[in-house]
Amino acid sequence: MNSPSAFLPPNLAEGPLRSLDSQRIRALSAERLTTLLARVRELPFWADRLKGIAPCLEPFEQLSRIPLLQKSDLLTEQKQHPPFGRLFSSFGDGLCRYTQTSGTSGNTLRWLDDLPSWQGMLDCWAMCYEMAGVGKLDRLFFPFSFGPFLGFWTAFEAATRQGILAVPGGGLSSEARLRMAADVDATVLLGTPSYLIHLGEKAKEDGTRVPKPRLLIVAGEPGGSIPATRKRLETLWNARVIDHSGMTEVGPVTVECVENPGGLHILESRYLAEILDPQTGLPSDRGELVLTNLGRLSGPVLRYRTGDLVERDPNPCPCGFGGMRLKGGILGRLDDMVFIRGNNFHPQTLESILFGLPGLSEYQAVIHQPGGMARLEVIVEPEPGADADLLVDAADRAIRERCLFRAQVRATTPGTLPRAELKAKRTSVQS
Ligand SMILES: [Zn+2]
Repeated sequence: MNSPSAFLPPNLAEGPLRSLDSQRIRALSAERLTTLLARVRELPFWADRLKGIAPCLEPFEQLSRIPLLQKSDLLTEQKQHPPFGRLFSSFGDGLCRYTQTSGTSGNTLRWLDDLPSWQGMLDCWAMCYEMAGVGKLDRLFFPFSFGPFLGFWTAFEAATRQGILAVPGGGLSSEARLRMAADVDATVLLGTPSYLIHLGEKAKEDGTRVPKPRLLIVAGEPGGSIPATRKRLETLWNARVIDHSGMTEVGPVTVECVENPGGLHILESRYLAEILDPQTGLPSDRGELVLTNLGRLSGPVLRYRTGDLVERDPNPCPCGFGGMRLKGGILGRLDDMVFIRGNNFHPQTLESILFGLPGLSEYQAVIHQPGGMARLEVIVEPEPGADADLLVDAADRAIRERCLFRAQVRATTPGTLPRAELKAKRTSVQS
């Protein structure tokens, strides 16, 4: 296995992350924020937005005067000035990379980068690999087709830029992917937690020719920080899970370090992070994550409301990196929360309950909200050979104990619920 210290990142100003303390992070951030604030008014969207805000020499103070940015502000801008809005530098200035968010039609954001900004995104992935202990002897396998989202393009290119083998596994069946990953001796698999669970189950059925990765780098869903989901993945693959999160319109933002499982470090020299109480808007240790990216000058976002609920870990991390750590990873989406029979309910909670049950292979849930009175319906799919009645009883009991309300639980036959290659949507709402 590669030890984290054996890894040499490309020549980044940060140097090795494990010796990057919070003072040095603050100094790098101040320098980068000063550059960003000097340049951002060249972009018409930001020139309009910053009109009337008095300039201030202290960059952090200047930033705090800028209003919070919502995804809807960016969508409106792209609707009013199609197709890209006035969010980016000019085409003649080298914009060369296109990505877009995975929103349903009507709320998809289109994003553009010039080469220096794109390289900055690759730097972030280089940092993720460093924190994950991925090194030059590793072989990375990407078992999915690349959509127009930022995440895996940057992960793939960052690896090749560093001389690490990256193998694309798109356009193939799950069985063919397993064979290919085994043939190239993949040591790291990347994917969503759901899809890697699905592949792991297939590998178990297949038996003989399956890959034996030492690491799974997961993103795109909260599961990488949900203990029950992590345990399933680690048991299926006998490999360590490393969680990561990012957004097309912001960049690759967080990563888990090898030394301290179950939380996410913000790559804080590249993103300024604020945690704001959603009710009061004041700084807090638990609340909404608000981000400013410092290394994407061709199309930055300043004080962007991510909608992610997070909690700051007050303890220094044993890995030595001084960047903010989010305890338990992303705890939920603020807009996903519903009230069911007087109780706060996040769909993520259901994943943490159900994936902890022995004999469960997959599930789907529907929140019915006729006239505002919500109820939860859950369909559980047992593993082949598992007792469906026992699984229904166990799910019913576990939901009652953890959520303090009762759900309607029933079972379906093995292999019938959908499996997603990218983000799984297990819980839906019907009004
Ligand atoms: Zn750490």
